Amino acid sequence: MKDYLIKLLTRDGSLRAIAARTTLLAEEIRRRHGTDPVATVAVGRLATGAALCGGLLKEDQRLALIVEGDGPLRRLLAETDAGGRVRASVKNPVSGLPAEPGSYTVARAVGRNGLLHVVKDLGLKEPYRGSVRLQTAEIGEDLAYYFTVSEQTPSSVALGILLGAGGEVAAAGGFLIQALPGADPEPIAAVERRLIDLPPLTSLLKQRLTPEGILGEVFRELPFRIEQNVAVTFQCGCSRPRIRRVLMTLGKEELQRLGEEQGGAAVTCEFCKEVYSFSREEVLRMAAALG
Ligand code: ZN
Repeated sequence: MKDYLIKLLTRDGSLRAIAARTTLLAEEIRRRHGTDPVATVAVGRLATGAALCGGLLKEDQRLALIVEGDGPLRRLLAETDAGGRVRASVKNPVSGLPAEPGSYTVARAVGRNGLLHVVKDLGLKEPYRGSVRLQTAEIGEDLAYYFTVSEQTPSSVALGILLGAGGEVAAAGGFLIQALPGADPEPIAAVERRLIDLPPLTSLLKQRLTPEGILGEVFRELPFRIEQNVAVTFQCGCSRPRIRRVLMTLGKEELQRLGEEQGGAAVTCEFCKEVYSFSREEVLRMAAALG
């Protein structure tokens, strides 16, 4: 079963929602970064949150979510584009915190003192940047707080990562619900009441509910229509030419030193952990090309 997200509008035009299944994405991130269970849940939630935000983007736009806290994970980053291509990184992949099934100490791993930054590349000259203080450091609530306070769009966010006995991702997903400008407050209040009664997202995921099924549970009597369905995949935009350009920024002297003293260079991509190796000759040629 592939990962995907759906975008929908309620028929009365009061709410929009995005829901995603991100099981393969979260597992791929775990595998590539070697995260321990609590870190897997934290970075899986952030990547799922990014995928949901991607559902709000237009064609060439990109978005990054960055969480910086005073917990052991230190810094988490997830990026997406409008096509559901997501990548993520975590500064320290090992939280060292105990994982109790069903209740992961994500807030302790992230650290309650910290910030959530949202960076949007909307194709304008400068990217848009917004930041809020972490509220609970559980990530879902922090993202909802960002939308509600910083973008003045009342929002609700739920993110769920369910782990298997071996610490692998068994199921992952989430949803984002937003009130549309000028909407009738009654249907919004009804959904808010429903969200309080709704079983935790991880229990819905355990029942193998699809994104459509989960939003069906949330909206119940409120009719909606699905506007779009987008595949969600782990994808990193790194490439050998790109890494080469980064190396070139080290300058002639540093490249010469790397070539002569280190016998070349090896660069690990922060997001996908792919290792790019450059031989002594290649590094020296790059130094020479800098004149
Ligand atoms: Zn990469």
